[in-house]
Formats: sequence, structure tokens, C-alpha cells
Amino acid sequence: MSRIFNFAAGPSNMPLSVLEKAQADFVDYKGAGMSLVEMSHRGKQYDAVHNEAMQLVKELYGLPDNYKVLFVQGGATLQFAMIPMNFLGEGQSCDFTVTGSWAKKAYADTKKLGKVNVVWDGKEDNYLNLPDPKGLKLDSNAAYLHMTSNETIGGIQWQDFPDAGKVPIICDMSSDFVSRPVPVEKFGMIYAGAQKNAGPAGVGIVILREDLLERCPENLPAYLNYKTHWDKDSMYNTPPVFAIWMLKLVMEWLKEQGGLAAAEKMATERSGIVYDAIAKHPDFYKCPVPEHCRSKMNVVFRMPTEDLEKQFVAEALAQGMSGLKGHRSVGGCRASIYNAMPMEGAKALSDFMDEYAKKNG
Ligand SMILES: *Cc1c(COP(=O)(O)O)cnc(C)c1O
Repeated sequence: MSRIFNFAAGPSNMPLSVLEKAQADFVDYKGAGMSLVEMSHRGKQYDAVHNEAMQLVKELYGLPDNYKVLFVQGGATLQFAMIPMNFLGEGQSCDFTVTGSWAKKAYADTKKLGKVNVVWDGKEDNYLNLPDPKGLKLDSNAAYLHMTSNETIGGIQWQDFPDAGKVPIICDMSSDFVSRPVPVEKFGMIYAGAQKNAGPAGVGIVILREDLLERCPENLPAYLNYKTHWDKDSMYNTPPVFAIWMLKLVMEWLKEQGGLAAAEKMATERSGIVYDAIAKHPDFYKCPVPEHCRSKMNVVFRMPTEDLEKQFVAEALAQGMSGLKGHRSVGGCRASIYNAMPMEGAKALSDFMDEYAKKNG
């Protein structure tokens, strides 16, 4: 079997050992005579998987007891709507950082449901820059501050979070979830779709602080109310059992790697290898993002012509590296290097970039 290095932005590569473990257990789950995906979600075996998955996320982030991990379907995208439905009360407004295409989607949904105060909009910089979080002018009466910690298209990532005082920060961490430790106490809620760092698509992960539940309106439909998920430990209806099982295996793998501190160290090293390859050929490769906010998950770069970029993507694929085409809205190239990307993948890409620049520069 030959696995290639998959640099896709999401869904993205998963640890090989996780895929193999799932494969080995898929048909007959630990001697049950059936697959986990065929069992009742209320049975003992699934229950253990469900609880362990939650516990592992809790442990990895070091969450205090007033936080719960919830699993909600609809990806990160449903959260764009559920957040204002639950936490943006009548007459209140929330602060928003509009940092790129994901933040714009969250902002658009929020605006349909309530008042939004934009504290930063990256439009002037084509969403290729981020401000100093200390300089943000925040409203001390805001219902919450919404942020997007990493933008996959622009290739930008907040390195630090502002001090919002009593205002809870609600952060979309879809594309850098479990890739670094974060000061959890600043956040009222952290959420992520699983399919970048945490598993296959099919589950949204929500880390929620208990005091926010007071705000959930009684008149919301059950599934859209966080209180339902909190009270039922994400078992109100049938959870996406396969996605949660895979999430659990990925979290176990991550714990074995050394947890979030180790993930951050590896992400720094991996992305450094690719950024160095760009810097080595300044007349050929250009990273449009200033150093202070470069993403460690999505490295974007340009070449002198679009033809050279197209050829780069094709030649890389022939050498076993896929998914290097930039997002269709911005063009260029992009290497997404999430937790599961082996260091050899980053090295192989760097070697190829070196060779390609020498040949074509
Ligand atoms: C990928 C991504 C999303 C979309 O997640 P879905 O699970 O597809 O809804 C949202 N926000 C960010 C920051 C992302 O990277």
C-alpha cells in the first residue's frame, strides 16, 4: 500500500495508526459480533466511546469542571447560527473580528439574528493580516466577542487572544483545534468542525462554559438549544457515532504524542520547514502573509506566474503530494499541514519546492 502526503485543507489527512485501528475493529467491534456503527447508541459499548471522546478533549485542553464538551451535528457552520440564537439577547450586541472567509460566514448569520459591532475587518489587507489583539477596541457590554482563530484560505492565525474582561470570547477553532494549548478561561465557548485536526467530517465539537447556559432562550427548538445538548450529554438524539468514534481515536493518538504542547511544537517545526523553503527562494516564492500572523496549519504561497503554480501542483502530485492548489477564491498554492501530517511530509514538500525553484526560477 502506498499512502501519499495529503496537504488538503479539509477534510484532511488522519493519523495512519488511527485508520488502521478503525479498520481492524470496524466489522466486529471488540468481539461484539457487530460493528460499532450497527449498535444502539444507548448501549454500553458506544456509551464508553462517547464518554471517552469527551473526556479526552477535556483532558487535552485541561478544562475546568465548569466546562463541558458537547457534540453537535451540522459542523462548525451550524454554530454560526446557534451562537447568536442562544447567546445574543434582545437589545444586546456582540463584538466581531472579521478576519476572512470563515469569519465572514459567521458574521453574515449573526447579522440576520441580532446586532453586531465589527471591531476589526481585514478587508483592506485582503484578509491577509491580523491586528494586535491588545489594540482592539472592545465593548465592555458586548454579549460576547466572536473570533476565528485560524483562517484556512488566507493562511492567517491569531497568535494571541485579547483580554475581553468579563465578556466571554467565543472562538471558531475549526482549523487549529487541538493544535496548541490556549488560555481556556478566556473563552465562554470554543467550537470546531472535526475534519481538520480531529477526525472525519460529521461532528461539531463545542466546548462550553456553564454560566452561558443561563442565556439560552426557552423558546428555541430543542436541537438548537445548547441546554438540550448540555443536559443530555450530547445524547438527546442519535449522535454521529462513527465520527465520534474516530474523534476518540484521534484524541488518544494525540495524547500519546504528548498532547497540545507537543502538537504546537510539531506544528511550529512542520510549518517552519515550509516557510523556510519559501524564504530560501525569495525571487520565486512569496508568502503574502506577514510573519507575525502566519498560520502554522495552512501555509499559502505564490509563484511568478499562474502557469508555474499549476505545473507545481501537477508535478507535486506525480511525486506523491496532493492537495496543494490554493483555494479557488484566491488562487496560488496552499499546503495544509495539520496535526496528522508527518514531519517527512513537510520535508518532502520542502525538497520538492527547492528543486522546483531551481529548475524554473
Ligand atoms: C473548515 C472551517 C469551517 C467549516 O466547518 P464545517 O464543519 O464544514 O461547517 C468553519 N470555520 C473554520 C475556521 C474552518 O476552518
